[in-house]
Amino acid sequence: MDLAARLPITRDTSGGDLVSAVDAWVEANVPRAWRDASAGGRQAIRAVRSRGEYAEWYPTFAASGLAVATWPGAYGGLDLTPAQARLAEGRLSPYNLGRLNPLGLHNMAPALFAHGTEEQRLRFFPPMVANEERWCQLFSEPGAGSDLASLAMRAERDGDEWVLTGQKVWSTWAHHSEFGICLARTDPSAPKRQGIGYFLVKLRSAGVEVRELRHMGGVVDFNEVWFDDVRVPDFHRVGDPADGWRVAASTLAGERQMVAGSGSGGVDRIGGSGIDRLIESARGTDLAATIRDRLISLCTEERIRGWTNERMRATVKAGGTPGPAASIGKVHQGALNQKIQMLATDLLGPAAMAFESAETWAASLPYEVTGMIRSRANSIEGGTTEVNKNVIGEKVLGLAREPDPYHGVNWEDTPR
Ligand SMILES: Cc1cc2nc3c(=O)[nH]c(=O)nc-3n(C[C@H](O)[C@H](O)[C@H](O)COP(=O)(O)OP(=O)(O)OC[C@H]3O[C@@H](n4cnc5c(N)ncnc54)[C@H](O)[C@@H]3O)c2cc1C
Repeated sequence: MDLAARLPITRDTSGGDLVSAVDAWVEANVPRAWRDASAGGRQAIRAVRSRGEYAEWYPTFAASGLAVATWPGAYGGLDLTPAQARLAEGRLSPYNLGRLNPLGLHNMAPALFAHGTEEQRLRFFPPMVANEERWCQLFSEPGAGSDLASLAMRAERDGDEWVLTGQKVWSTWAHHSEFGICLARTDPSAPKRQGIGYFLVKLRSAGVEVRELRHMGGVVDFNEVWFDDVRVPDFHRVGDPADGWRVAASTLAGERQMVAGSGSGGVDRIGGSGIDRLIESARGTDLAATIRDRLISLCTEERIRGWTNERMRATVKAGGTPGPAASIGKVHQGALNQKIQMLATDLLGPAAMAFESAETWAASLPYEVTGMIRSRANSIEGGTTEVNKNVIGEKVLGLAREPDPYHGVNWEDTPR
């Protein structure tokens, strides 16, 4: 990461100077065409900026420190206060400079902040923030999804290394990633949550095979990942060898926040249409009363979602952790986004059904339809709606725990 390109602002910089510095940085670094398009909103920017161009330019943004403005300088940030970061965000928002590497930022980083060593943070954060090392999450297995703690991938210690063997599945973006956070069983003779290690695995290691899975939208987003005696240095282990379950809790809370949109990451990027965009496009058209009704009730729900997330952000800013309450936003956002995407598709009418040939249909679908198809995953990814309702019932409302006849039984003696 280019430290010389870091924006010259600190916690002592006044609000006015901060705004001037960010504006000057935009003028000098954000390409002219993107700045000109910004007056027309996100759609106009997307029309002049491909994803590839954005990824190529992204290291410039990361080097400024603005991508993770509240993080310490040594990790790639500017060490700003949350209020300063919000001010900077406000100046940047017209240019739609989204953060890349969300599974690094929201899944790996919370675990390293809470349980990693300083050496690990210095090694892994800067290239992750710069999107030079992209991250994926290798938790789910064919026999361990909702009941993640029953996972079977083995990790055996061999001197200064661990040897990992087994299979992961639904690993989003593993085919584009350099690293993955991975849970593996270090002690089969312990109860299932007590014998798990948390590892940072280099995907281009001998013995790792990534096989792409195509989902119903016709696109490859996730993969199966096979491990055959993969050697991982002990330096890449986070937390105690048998305490990976606790480390994973930081990751899962960060993931739920991201999917629910209460983190700095992007609910706007899930699916194709936000409710505001739908209202914008419906304005001035002759809408049926039932459609108006759906728009208004979704708009109301969207505002409630926003306030719930505000409350969560305020808790985090006040030094608290979102904890099990993150499940509330996750459950609500999953259902809400599915309703919004379905309405967007309904508004298209017959155009939503106009497929071309079987070979090209995925590429020919309007974004409203791909958004609607993608949104079906919202109630599964990051923990299913049913499982998150269990979390809310038990940990937020204090209801009785779900019965577990194998509680305390060693993993190797538990039927799977
Ligand atoms: C788009 C997408 C991306 C994903 N990306 C990743 C990734 O990057 N990395 C990763 O590790 N995983 C990823 N996953 C996997 C995801 O975390 C799992 O799919 C999820 O946890 C559910 O596990 P499962 O698919 O094994 O379903 P199961 O656990 O087999 O559940 C099947 C059904 O039973 C219900 N159920 C299960 N247990 C209970 C219970 N105790 N009470 C009530 N109902 C229950 C579930 O709600 C569900 O409806 C992704 C999934 C999707 C859809």
